Amino acid sequence: MTYSGERVLVTGGAGFIGSHLCRRLLDEGKSVICVDDFSTGSQGNVAPLLDHPRFELRRHDVALPLHVEVDMIYNLACPASPPQYQKDPIQTMKTSVFGAFNMLGLAKRLGVPVLQTSTSEVYGDPHQHPQREAYWGNVNPIGMRSCYDEGKRCAETIFFDYHREHGVQIKVVRLFNTYGPRMLVNDGRVVSNFVIQALQGLPITLYGDGSQTRSFCYVDDTLEGIVRMMGTAPEVTGPVNIGNPDEFTVLELARMVVAMTGSRSEIRHFPLPSDDPTRRKPDISEAARLLDWSPKVGLERGLDCTIAHFHDLLGRQGLVTASRKVRSVG
Ligand code: NAD
Ligand code: UDP
Ligand code: UDP
Repeated sequence: MTYSGERVLVTGGAGFIGSHLCRRLLDEGKSVICVDDFSTGSQGNVAPLLDHPRFELRRHDVALPLHVEVDMIYNLACPASPPQYQKDPIQTMKTSVFGAFNMLGLAKRLGVPVLQTSTSEVYGDPHQHPQREAYWGNVNPIGMRSCYDEGKRCAETIFFDYHREHGVQIKVVRLFNTYGPRMLVNDGRVVSNFVIQALQGLPITLYGDGSQTRSFCYVDDTLEGIVRMMGTAPEVTGPVNIGNPDEFTVLELARMVVAMTGSRSEIRHFPLPSDDPTRRKPDISEAARLLDWSPKVGLERGLDCTIAHFHDLLGRQGLVTASRKVRSVG
């Protein structure tokens, strides 16, 4: 690897958001060390970057100490999809908690900023709507989602204690549901599930009656928020919500995907998973104030790009049956 420009560590860099971040940082002239254990991410996600002279990929579990020399750290390592993080809940918790200690220990030794991708899940099934950063949340500590929700809450605690005790420069962003190209086909989150099912003419797996809401943020918008947060003055710690405040029911999403793919898929109901949040919508006034940031890509345009990605991917395997409607996405 040829080091030039700032050296950036991206943990979880072979995942969905991480792979987009690695590309963006390389495009900005930075050198990137991508660390990933490939538990939910894949080498394929960063395959086009492997020959880049300023890119280095290392297989490593962030729950174990890591010794590298860098100028800033983006800590994204953690499975984010409910079926994925519930597969090995103990490892999910270790990733969040020990991963936080190790990345903060590294940031402390090097004297560099470290950004943590926390989550709207810290608000649990919220009693306040929309969710502001000052809200402490409503989280079940012993349920199926707790390994992720409580792991991320604990990680935030460790970040703020390292900041107060050791003066580590921390940047905490709470991401809301992000979607877009390069989600893995077996990821299990709602947007990729619905798009893949619709394109193949398979039943749409709607959990519950579909009245629960989410606010979907296109990956380019999320990335812009993350990168702006890293660029803030040292005293800006967050937490800052990054998400798109346009709220949709999951049933509305299912209908949009079916219509936009020209699919004949039927919508089929399945039981709602336990502790599935009823409503979710970010208040993004802090992001507007501190980062001068707001999302630019609406759900329809973002879905169009996502559908185009999966249409190409599945089409190459001869799996597409739906007649995707062609739109201008300019
Ligand atoms: P993802 O599952 O696609 O990517 C996570 C990456 O981390 C994967 O490449 C995985 O292999 C890697 N990883 C997991 N455990 C690891 C470990 N112990 N050591 C090293 N690597 C490990 O998920 P994503 O959607 O890209 O999410 C990235 C980050 O953003 C996560 O921290 C997630 O909690 C956070 N986030 C995402 C969303 C979203 O909607 N996508 C919402 C809120 C928060
Ligand atoms: N750590 C790391 N890389 C470093 C420095 C520290 O992975 O370059 C790990 C270290 O092994 C420890 C954690 O970060 O597990 C916290 O380190 P810190 O120095 O804060 O605390 P201590 O070593 O006293 O536990
Ligand atoms: N969901 C669904 N069908 C699916 C996957 C998810 O109806 O195939 C629902 C899920 O129950 C939740 C919402 O879609 O209400 C968002 O789920 P996702 O797993 O994407 O993320 P979450 O926001 O729950 O972490």
